[in-house]
Amino acid sequence: MSILVFLEHHEGELQKGSLGVLSKAASLCDSDLAGVLLGSGVKELASEAGKFGAAKVYVFDDPRLEAPLPQPRVDALEHLVRDQGFDTVLFAASVLAADVAAALAARLDAGLNWDLVDLVREDGKLVGKRPALSDSVYVDVGWTSEPRLALIRSGSFDAAATGGSAEVVEFQSELQDFSLAATMVEQAHEEQEGPSIEDADVVIAGGRGLGGPESFNLVEDLAKALGGAVGATRAVVDAGWYPYAAQVGQTGRTVSPKLYIACGISGAIQHKVGMQSSGVIVAINKDSNAPIFEYSDLGVVGDVHAILPKLTELVRSRKGG
Ligand SMILES: Cc1cc2nc3c(=O)[nH]c(=O)nc-3n(C[C@H](O)[C@H](O)[C@H](O)COP(=O)(O)OP(=O)(O)OC[C@H]3O[C@@H](n4cnc5c(N)ncnc54)[C@H](O)[C@@H]3O)c2cc1C
Repeated sequence: MSILVFLEHHEGELQKGSLGVLSKAASLCDSDLAGVLLGSGVKELASEAGKFGAAKVYVFDDPRLEAPLPQPRVDALEHLVRDQGFDTVLFAASVLAADVAAALAARLDAGLNWDLVDLVREDGKLVGKRPALSDSVYVDVGWTSEPRLALIRSGSFDAAATGGSAEVVEFQSELQDFSLAATMVEQAHEEQEGPSIEDADVVIAGGRGLGGPESFNLVEDLAKALGGAVGATRAVVDAGWYPYAAQVGQTGRTVSPKLYIACGISGAIQHKVGMQSSGVIVAINKDSNAPIFEYSDLGVVGDVHAILPKLTELVRSRKGG
């Protein structure tokens, strides 16, 4: 199997999702695993990819790739995949990666399996695992031809540094006129303090049990005390209590922190699928029959308004002492 992993980067850093996919690919690959870096001023990131299992990193460094727009990237990837004969191309899911993967599939007349949460080799064949029926079952998916393309759900694989090094191979590709027709007019960044929800070791998530948007400060205070990020359920996001970027679940983010504290969250299946792979799950809910307790490692039956301030105080005093 010759695998190429699309290495997405942002503000001079390789994205954790891409490194997780690279680590997973390294465990599947019996020959040299390759990554590809497309952008402007990105060459120095190639060595970082080597630490996560890439034996070779193809770099196309060009000012025309400065903006994170899909079409020029599709040109470059089409060229590289055809030229080097990769049989598998893997992407960590993101807005950009989804656009690039779909367009590349059309260009190469290739099959794209999306939203995979695992990849295994069975009888020499690559098999993808994909959640279905509201994430209540996993189905096996495959490809009928090569190259095989796959988009991996965020948070599915840990980025495991193994300390290797990568050979850097610079390449050039023709970029079509129509691929350069779009320009990036504006790019907005959400300002946030602390780690992103996908990178955080600790996620404190709030649900409708908080009673209103004003109580989210209780969740934020605990997150700050523990150096974590804030998550939310769809119910509170839909109600406008908290931004969509914090939504955990089937139609939000998938997170796998070391510690997940669910505050006033019932534990619906659509929420569960976004956080069930967390290391330790703690639930605070006033209803002892809430479904979340069925998959929590530790449950606290009580009112979040009473428990959260005390917990935050305790954490602060332990840290202070
Ligand atoms: C197609 C589809 C996709 C969806 N995608 C998502 C998704 O991505 N993420 C997601 O989260 N949901 C998703 N949902 C919605 C999901 O089904 C649930 O409706 C939602 O997760 C419930 O949010 P909640 O736990 O905040 O609210 P509720 O279900 O209303 O639960 C509130 C909980 O708070 C407890 N409570 C109340 N007061 C207190 C208090 N003072 N102290 C402590 N506990 C208290 C209650 O006992 C209750 O268990 C989706 C639904 C559909 C149909």
